[in-house]
Amino acid sequence: MTRAPWGSKLEAGLVGYLLGMLAGCASFQRPVPAEALPRRVVLALDGIDYRDVMEARQRGRFAAFHPPARLVSTFPSISDIAWHAIFGLYPPAGYQRVYYSARHNAVLGDALSAISPIEYEERMDYAFDTKFHHLGAYLISWPVARREVNTDVDLVLGTRNRETVYLYNVGPDALQHTRGDVHRYLDHLDERLTELLTRYRERTGRELEVIVLSDHGHNRAREAEFAPLVEALAAHGFESARSIARANQVAFSVDGVTTGFGVFCAPDSVARVASLLAGMPAVDVVTQRVNDSLFTVMRHDGPGELRLGAVRRRRVAGEDRYRYTSERGDPLELDSAVLRMRAAGVLDADGYATTSSWVQFTAGAPYPVAPPRIVHGHLSATRNPAPILVSIHDTFRVGLGLVSVANRLRPLGGTHGALGVTNAVGIAMSNRVVPHDDVAMRVRDQFGGFDDLLDLRVHQPALAVVDAGMLRLDRLHRRPWVGVPTLPDSGPVALLSVPRSPEQWSGAGGRLRVEVRPLDRDTTLYTALLPLAAAPHSIDGTQWVWPAAELGLATLTPGHEYRIAVVLERLRLRGDRPTVDRSKPLLVTNVRAALDGVPWSY
Ligand SMILES: [Zn+2]
Repeated sequence: MTRAPWGSKLEAGLVGYLLGMLAGCASFQRPVPAEALPRRVVLALDGIDYRDVMEARQRGRFAAFHPPARLVSTFPSISDIAWHAIFGLYPPAGYQRVYYSARHNAVLGDALSAISPIEYEERMDYAFDTKFHHLGAYLISWPVARREVNTDVDLVLGTRNRETVYLYNVGPDALQHTRGDVHRYLDHLDERLTELLTRYRERTGRELEVIVLSDHGHNRAREAEFAPLVEALAAHGFESARSIARANQVAFSVDGVTTGFGVFCAPDSVARVASLLAGMPAVDVVTQRVNDSLFTVMRHDGPGELRLGAVRRRRVAGEDRYRYTSERGDPLELDSAVLRMRAAGVLDADGYATTSSWVQFTAGAPYPVAPPRIVHGHLSATRNPAPILVSIHDTFRVGLGLVSVANRLRPLGGTHGALGVTNAVGIAMSNRVVPHDDVAMRVRDQFGGFDDLLDLRVHQPALAVVDAGMLRLDRLHRRPWVGVPTLPDSGPVALLSVPRSPEQWSGAGGRLRVEVRPLDRDTTLYTALLPLAAAPHSIDGTQWVWPAAELGLATLTPGHEYRIAVVLERLRLRGDRPTVDRSKPLLVTNVRAALDGVPWSY
C-alpha cells in the first residue's frame, strides 16, 4: 500500500474535518437584529455551467431570479484566474497554484499549495478555505457541497454590519469533477435559497438581494482519456522540465485535471512547440503570443488541415480593442460574427471592436468572446503569463498534481479549462439586477463593482518581495495606503504583513531590524535598520513597504538561498546615546534569489 503524498498530521486533521462536516457543526449565537443584517449576498459558486442552470429553470427552479446571463470565463477557463478577474483582484502568481515563474525560471508551488487559500478566498466573508475542506470536497463531494449551501443560509442570517456578504463554495466544482449529480445540487440550492429569502423577509420585512455567480462551466465529459502530451513532445525531442535551460525544455502550468493550460519554453522554441502541440490529436486550439499586440491561433482539423488565424489588440482612448482575422479555415469560427459586427457598425475602420461588442455578438458562439479572452490569458491573467495557451478537446484531459491524485481515488467526472462553449460559460444571476451576458473581467460592473470585498486578513507575519506597480494597480490594495507615492513606480519592494498594527513601535524610536544571511553560512550579509515612522504603510498598520534594496534584497546571488530575520526594535535615549530598550522577533523566512538577484515571491 503506498502512502498518500500528504503527511500524517494532515491525514488526522482531514479525518476530524470530515467527521465534523458530516455531523454538522455550525452553531450560532443570538439572532442578529434585522437592521444589522446584510442587504445583499454574493454567492460565488465554483464551476456551475450556464446550461445546467437553464435546465433547472425549465424544471421550475430559480423562479425567484431574473433569467440568468452567461458569465464567460477567462482563458484558460479555470478558477484562480477567473475569480480574480470576476472580483477585479490583482492577478495571481500563476494560472494555478503550481506554476512556472519566469523570474525564477522554475516551477514554484507544491502539491499542498493547490489547496491553500488564495486572495479571492481570503477576501470572501466565508470561503470554507481550509485545506481539509478543499480535500474533503473531492473525497465526499455530495455531503460537502450540500452542507456548504446549508451553512451559507445560516451564515447570511448570522452576519451583522456588512452591507454585502460574500460567500464562496468550492463544492459544486468538486462534485462535478467526481461524477456528482449537479441537478440534485441545483435543486437543493434553489430550495435553500428560497428558504433564505423567506426567512429574511419574515425577519426584516425587506427583500434580500441575492447575486449568484459562477466562474466557468463544466464539460460533462466523464469518459475523456488522459492526453499523452509529455510523451508526444518527447517524441519530437522536447522534455518536460521544472526549469528551462535548453531549447528543448518545456515547462507546463498544469495542476489538477483540466482542458486548458499554459506552456513555457525558450523564446526561440515557442513557435515550434506551439505548432507541435497544435498537431496533436487531443489538442483543439493553440494560441501563441507573438508580441503584446499580436497573437496567433492554430487549430488542426484532421491530419494536415491546419486552420490559422490571428488576434490583434490595440488601445484606443484608454480602452483595448480587438480584431480577429481568419487567415485559413477560420479556427475560432468567428467569420460570420465578424460580418454581422461589420454590418452593425461596431468595427472601426481597421476591423477592431471593443470587448462589449465582442460579448454582444459572440457570447453564445462556439468560442465565446475569444479575442479579448485570448489576449487577457496571454498578458494579464497572471503575474507569469505563458507564451503558449492550449485548449484540449472534450474527449481528452490532462492531469498533474494533488487534485488529480484525489481524483484518482474516485471515478473522474467532467472538467473544464478549454476555450470553447462547453467549458467556459458560467452564470450571473440576480433577483434584483437583470443581468446581461459578460466576460469575467467586466461582470462586476453590472453589480456596482464589488468594492466592499473584505480587506485582506493577515494570519501571521510575512515578508514578500513584490513589484511596486502591484501596490498602485491593485484596486483594492492601493486604497488604504499612506505614503505609496514615495515608492518607485515599478521594481522590487519588500512588503511586510503583520496580523496587528505594531502601534507601540511605530512612533519615534520604533524601527525594524532586518538581517539577511546566506542559508549555508553563519555570517550576516546585510543588516538594515528601518525607522517605521518613515515607511509607507496601510492605514490599518498591518502592511509596511520598503524598496527591496533598502533591505539588501536587490543584489543577491541568483539561485542562492538566504535566511531573513525580521525584528521590531524600540530605541530610547540612555544618557545621550540611543539604545534598544525593547525588541520583538517577528519572523524568520527562507528565500531564494531569482535570476536578477531579487528574491521575488512569484
Ligand atoms: Zn474545477
